[in-house]
Amino acid sequence: SRSNEGAPLGDALGEAFPGLHVEWTDNRFREAAGQGLPVGIWIAALALVLGVTVFGGYLLLRDVNRDVRMTEVRSQFVASVSHELKTPLTAIRMFAETLAMGRSRDEHTKSEYLETIVNESERLARLVDNVLDFSKIEQGKKIYRLRPVRLEDVADSAARAMQFPLAQQGFQLRFSVEQEIPELRADPDAIQQAILNLLTNAMKYSGDAREIYLRVGIRGAARNGEALIEVVDHGLGMAADEQKHIFEKFYRAPSHESRLIAGTGLGLTLVAHIVKAHGGRVEVESAPGSGSTFSILLPVLSDNGIHS
Ligand code: ADP
Repeated sequence: SRSNEGAPLGDALGEAFPGLHVEWTDNRFREAAGQGLPVGIWIAALALVLGVTVFGGYLLLRDVNRDVRMTEVRSQFVASVSHELKTPLTAIRMFAETLAMGRSRDEHTKSEYLETIVNESERLARLVDNVLDFSKIEQGKKIYRLRPVRLEDVADSAARAMQFPLAQQGFQLRFSVEQEIPELRADPDAIQQAILNLLTNAMKYSGDAREIYLRVGIRGAARNGEALIEVVDHGLGMAADEQKHIFEKFYRAPSHESRLIAGTGLGLTLVAHIVKAHGGRVEVESAPGSGSTFSILLPVLSDNGIHS
């Protein structure tokens, strides 16, 4: 305020502002204190800020942890796929080189080597198919082409495809058609892939057991039952809490025995996807040490052509 009399009120503002003074009211501090918020609110505000900071920190940590886990899963996956590809490739190369050098003269050995090469190439193709299909599923691009199919034929060709590797490792595959199955609408390649994955697992997790069953038939009443594909092994089996996770992508049982067996953790993920796409479901019955039964159940066409 500008002073119009001699005695200035308040403090001068300085030389730059000649004649200008700041006027202080007597109770300026008291007022400020009086208008202030109650202590409780200050504490609440402080607690809120702290809370938000801690929560933010937690979210950040969780994200970082998830990133680390994803990186681990990814590198584990790359390692296991490479490992799985390497085994058949090594066999193919070894047998092909032996043949190329002309070391084995006898025809029987030669054809055995050739058979192994064909078989290992098929195994390679199955592995690659699994990975490619998985990536298609992840991108939502996997297409199933359904058409009328005889399940007995699909199961039979799956059994044939596994004949050589089964025999090579001393397995007996008992394939049986329990009941006549009405025609299904299905993608035969996909169903065959699902059966092959189950048979491959039955072999991998058989331990010392050497018998595997593949059964097809009907569950329930003949007319509105479901088509059933059953793969039974008498191998390692699994505990109930393991069974809950086996259909998750990349999941592999943590038990030591299964850890030593090569795998990507995608086989059953694909089985579950294929079966679901057909309107069916997969059931597992298993106990440690007594083996596992995997059942694929698919809806069959009733007489009027509608899914039962
Ligand atoms: P992978 O065999 O490549 O590990 P899968 O998705 O086929 O992946 O199987 C997931 C897990 O389920 C396996 O790691 C194994 O622990 C368990 N599993 C699958 N099939 C069987 C089986 N027949 N007996 C015992 N355990 C099995």
